[in-house]
Amino acid sequence: MIFEKELLDRCISCGYCLPACPTYRLTGEEASSPRGRITLMRALETGELDTADPTLTEQSSFCLGCRACEPVCPAGVRYGDLLEQWRDVQWQGGNRPWLARLLMAAVSLEWLLRLQGLVRRHARGARGGTHSLMLGCVERGLYPGVSRAVRRLVPGISVPRAQGCCGALHAHNGASAKGAEMAVALGKRLPGKVVTTAGGCAAHLATHLGRDRVREFGEWLVEVGHQPAGEVRVRGRRARVALQDSCHLRNGLGVTEEPRKLIAAVADYVELPGAGDCCGAAGTYSLLRPDDSRRVLAGKLDAIDAAALDFVVVVNPGCLRQLRQTLRKRRSGVRAIHLAELLAAARK
Ligand code: SF4
Ligand code: SF4
Repeated sequence: MIFEKELLDRCISCGYCLPACPTYRLTGEEASSPRGRITLMRALETGELDTADPTLTEQSSFCLGCRACEPVCPAGVRYGDLLEQWRDVQWQGGNRPWLARLLMAAVSLEWLLRLQGLVRRHARGARGGTHSLMLGCVERGLYPGVSRAVRRLVPGISVPRAQGCCGALHAHNGASAKGAEMAVALGKRLPGKVVTTAGGCAAHLATHLGRDRVREFGEWLVEVGHQPAGEVRVRGRRARVALQDSCHLRNGLGVTEEPRKLIAAVADYVELPGAGDCCGAAGTYSLLRPDDSRRVLAGKLDAIDAAALDFVVVVNPGCLRQLRQTLRKRRSGVRAIHLAELLAAARK
């Protein structure tokens, strides 16, 4: 058995999820929709098709894993779980993209994560706090300013040194058992509530550690009653700032209001059309399928430029990389920054 039977049986083929799916919106093809992919999964389960089938191969990879199909589904289909189970069999051996294999191997090397974090000077210190900041794998090397901003905002938060990757990357790339193992191991090393600045990691950790142990940074700040101080000003006026949601934070954990509330406390908040739609980063997707990633992103960049913004705020390192790089390449005047960086930049 490949899939949990109850999960696969839950889909009633109503099609409500089709308009919410970015890949269906791009192609208009049933096979590229959540319903179409569930039909393919059922064919795999019954043996009607096997993993060598080209449509299965293509659709298991074309799907962003954004889970926009979940909140709109009247039958409560947990598509994200189904996709993990699908890739666990579909992406084995040579079928797993070599780049995904390379990244999975790299984030499993804890010494490498620690070294790149130390070289890049991520936040350090403060032990014994009741909550722990998770440093992440990608973020501590690429965007160490995010954890430093968290420390400036919340000096008492613990930042344990010995921490590896949470395993989300494994879970999304055909190794869900290993991904679960890594999440549990990380949970044992981080005392108290695990606070993460990555929406994708928050959703993965919540699945394996329990929702109560895990908080995304913005939702945690609101929960503990943190009052953002000051405001962010640009050329003598209050900054205009929009949010790009993290798909897994929004669709997996249902967190949408908290980051908006925090932004509005220090700047003029602007709601972007399609703020909740995937930006095309989608974990490893922008690396594995760069052309499709750009197609998913295209309309969003136009909307960002049309909104006359100063900043677009993100709550996930993959989204930060995607938007920062593409906005720079486009010579846009809008800068992508993490929520923690925006709040830390507010001045009285
Ligand atoms: S996944 Fe949900 S919304 Fe989509 S077709 Fe199945 S039951 Fe309907
Ligand atoms: S996870 Fe995203 S891309 Fe994949 S089927 Fe669902 S809505 Fe479409």
